[in-house]
Amino acid sequence: LMSYLLLLLLLSGCAKETTAVPNKTEVKERIHIGFSMDTLEEERWLRDRDLFKESAERLGAKVTIMAASGDDALQIVQAEQLIQLGVDVLVVVPHNAEATAAIVAKAHDAGIKVMSYDRLIKNADLDLYVSFDNEKVGEMQAEAITKLVPKGKYVYIGGAETDNNAHLFKKGVFNVLQPLIEKGDITVVYDQWTKNWLPSNAFENMRSAIEANNREIDAVIAANDATAGSATKVLAAYGLLGEIPVAGQDAELAAVRRIVEGTQTMTVYKPINILAEAAAELAVKMARDEDVGADRKVNNGKIQVPSVLLSPIAVDQENVVETVIADGFHDYDDVFGD
Ligand code: BGC
Repeated sequence: LMSYLLLLLLLSGCAKETTAVPNKTEVKERIHIGFSMDTLEEERWLRDRDLFKESAERLGAKVTIMAASGDDALQIVQAEQLIQLGVDVLVVVPHNAEATAAIVAKAHDAGIKVMSYDRLIKNADLDLYVSFDNEKVGEMQAEAITKLVPKGKYVYIGGAETDNNAHLFKKGVFNVLQPLIEKGDITVVYDQWTKNWLPSNAFENMRSAIEANNREIDAVIAANDATAGSATKVLAAYGLLGEIPVAGQDAELAAVRRIVEGTQTMTVYKPINILAEAAAELAVKMARDEDVGADRKVNNGKIQVPSVLLSPIAVDQENVVETVIADGFHDYDDVFGD
């Protein structure tokens, strides 16, 4: 029986070899992907850029990347340039969820499909949205902080109002806080967006939060690690560092170090390699007009966008080693070293 099975196995192997003739379109040209990025400001976007490029190239595609430094008009001009270059598919990390709808329209006029990467483009006939479950990110932050501070005065340092994710993060936070607010256990004493996600704006927000409340605050939830970093700087200036729980997001190295040293409570880790690989594979499929098999749907104000949403992971002092370090997202020495 064993040798019979072995023979079958060998035969099936042969069969595969002989049918693996590349089809015409594969031979004809290399797929060209345009990647239009908002910014390379936060640590994560450098990973997104590099891992997306690597994954796409591994699949035989060519990638042209442009980053707009948070400039709406520039992002549209760059997308036009990518369209002019004749890309087969456009992958966009929008700075402004609404303004980038123009990119989708222009790409479609040229017969090019568009994927929204990490952040949703709103009010457009978007072809695909690939991201994390961003509402879950906010829920994880609020769950971790309310466990430590079930009653008290909360500060929420939001993200950029122009980024749809910022709204989802906040929605997630309030999903968890709302019942506690209604019970009278928690009051949100400060809640502001951080213009353009800039740490300098988050710093000012945090200062206002502390000043407006006579330094009497009990917990801080910041929309990402960069803004959480600003919050910890302000807390330090008021002698409150390490006294007040702070949540962030992105598992940036500086934040993970703060978690280990006890000045930040938690972060939310989003495995960028999984996002970048999934996006690259799907972009190649879109370029080939193949089915992307995205079974979830997210409403962007215009249509139900086919979507792929990956799972975020909450990280605190307890699980740093088995999450971000075990995954190779950060080196042990970088996290625990001087
Ligand atoms: C991303 C976060 C990032 C933030 C600022 C959000 O859309 O999901 O990971 O920290 O933008 O760039």
